[in-house]
Amino acid sequence: MKTFCGRANPTTGAMEWLEEDENYDYHQEIARSRYADMLHDKDRNVKYYQGIRAAVSRVKERGEKAIVLDIGTGTGLLSMMAASAGADFCYAIEVFKPMANAAVKIVEKNGFHDKIKVINKHSTEVTVGPDGDMQCRANILITELFDTELIGEGALPTYEHAHKYLVQEGCEAVPHRATVYVQLVESKRMWSWNKLFPVHVEADDGEKIIVSPSEMENCPGVPSVCDIQLNQMPSSDFTILSDVVTMFSVDFSKPVRSASTYYKVQLEPVKSGKAQIVLSWWDIDMDPSGMINCTMAPYWVKSTSAFQWRDHWMQCVYFLPNEEPVLQGEKVYLTACRDEYSVWYKLQKARGEEENKADVHVESPVCRCQAHLLWNRPRFGELNDENRTRQYITSLMKVLKTDSVCLCISDGSLLPVLAHYLGAKQFFKANHLEDKIKIIEARPESLTSSHLEDKKISVLVGEPFFTTSLLPWHNLYFWYARTAVTSHLTSNVTVLPQSASLHMMIVEFQDLWRIRSPCGTCEGFDVQTMDDMIKNSLNFRESKEAEPHPLWEYPCKSLSDPQEVLTFDFRKTVPQHCLSTEGSINLLRKGKSHGAVLWMEYHLAADISISTGLMQISNEKGNCEWNPHCKQAVYFFSSVIESEAVSGLPSAVTYAINFNTKTGEIAMDFKLL
Ligand code: SAH
Repeated sequence: MKTFCGRANPTTGAMEWLEEDENYDYHQEIARSRYADMLHDKDRNVKYYQGIRAAVSRVKERGEKAIVLDIGTGTGLLSMMAASAGADFCYAIEVFKPMANAAVKIVEKNGFHDKIKVINKHSTEVTVGPDGDMQCRANILITELFDTELIGEGALPTYEHAHKYLVQEGCEAVPHRATVYVQLVESKRMWSWNKLFPVHVEADDGEKIIVSPSEMENCPGVPSVCDIQLNQMPSSDFTILSDVVTMFSVDFSKPVRSASTYYKVQLEPVKSGKAQIVLSWWDIDMDPSGMINCTMAPYWVKSTSAFQWRDHWMQCVYFLPNEEPVLQGEKVYLTACRDEYSVWYKLQKARGEEENKADVHVESPVCRCQAHLLWNRPRFGELNDENRTRQYITSLMKVLKTDSVCLCISDGSLLPVLAHYLGAKQFFKANHLEDKIKIIEARPESLTSSHLEDKKISVLVGEPFFTTSLLPWHNLYFWYARTAVTSHLTSNVTVLPQSASLHMMIVEFQDLWRIRSPCGTCEGFDVQTMDDMIKNSLNFRESKEAEPHPLWEYPCKSLSDPQEVLTFDFRKTVPQHCLSTEGSINLLRKGKSHGAVLWMEYHLAADISISTGLMQISNEKGNCEWNPHCKQAVYFFSSVIESEAVSGLPSAVTYAINFNTKTGEIAMDFKLL
């Protein structure tokens, strides 16, 4: 059987439906899943185990049989913990078939098949009774259904249903409770992910300021959560305006209501400033006493030195609908609204007024200006990057003449506006988004002379940036588009950027390697079946693929110098033949070569280049600084990740890289020498 998967074609920029093996989706799901990261989360595992032991003991002390319901068992880990802790029987529910199958194998291998029944169903489909999936209701409820936002994976409706139909009244729940914390901050950096700041253009006839329209200024944005590794945000990038306060908590041992609601807290600003952002995270208490606590608190809040890195639970950044000036000591009210799956925030200045239900709108925010639909948060950040804008302005000034006829090919780009302010008279913009700027609703390959009012293009510009790009080289679509419009270009056309280059560096990650590293045993349970399954899924495609990661969130150190491996000349058309390169790269520092990082650099003018990857290597230790708006490509070396101790450090890495001009994809292979 075949299935169809939607994917953007990097040579046309268009979405295409590709026929894939029926297992493709599931292999992708397994290979890119967070299961490995969870199994490596020692802090989480240890605390679950403690909480489970305590819950089983409490039930036993009451003289009852311990009957466990584990919703979303994954590898079966939490059920095996319960069985080891003395539970009489566990019902392990898992909706994802490949995982349910893996759980059966893992449970069997660890010798718990008589104590654990794996049920491949969504928990809301589970039946209870003599002929049901479960013989009787459970008195211990164990789950790990949380995402960074706590409720985004549907924990609330799942708990609501479980309390109604699957567990006894007064059941013990592990975790026992979850608490959501918030802190109000001002941060130009984070606010730049949500609003377009005025753009200053230094033109020959004076400074001009591009401002965003008022509907954009007042737009509440999109409700999707912004989850980041907040621990990578330096304290110099935000100003704390309030103490950390508890926003709401959920007691999982009691009936849970998933219906939309809101919570309101009073805040007394500790500093005057502009309230823009609500930072939020949660913790879970594994037992009622609160002695076994697992927290996502960021570095400036957490006192413990025992810091656990994890990627499956991070921290949330919420954007207030508008920035609000607040004064130190002058109370404000922060409201968290939530529906079944997401949370959003509002700030009110009402001083001790009657808390009127009617004034709380629980509707989730909807973008009215379109910009939040066109630009995601990193893209907002990129467009607000003044340094980057300056480089484009300087480059544009070098190439634009008053009689230039310009065409811009990039998604949601400000280049036409910049060029217009710089004095370009004629500007065409293909694909998206004024009277000096003409937007052409046509794909580059179907561009006609009439679209261009029979003019030839003398300046072709692009950032380039396309929303469909997943990996750095997918923005080479610009080259394909440039090739498609060749007949409309003057013979001495200026293309900006004139070329691009692919760069590569070998790195040692501080933590990111964990997400692809096998686990072996977890808290004494053999979970190798899961490792094998992930490996098998990673090898499902003959060549392993590079994967996109925003590396500013994932510290690493360079083990080699950065190396330019391929160049792409935009002044010429895309060649028919593939572009390949082979070579070796010397390792200059000691460390574990976890993988190669690849990124693109765009050459706007002879002396102006934009890097979408490495910004600089900041010290002699090799710590890297990455472009904060872009994702880089990471290719993990499985041999290093899989071996505990690397005996005899490699001194060089050989590589073979091939850019297939037909597909727009890059295949690569590495060997450690
Ligand atoms: N319990 C495991 C895995 C947690 S990941 C561990 O702690 O290591 C969460 C798992 O729950 C996923 O495998 C997902 O497929 C499953 N899941 C989520 N909601 C579910 C539901 N309502 N019913 C059954 N499975 C669910």
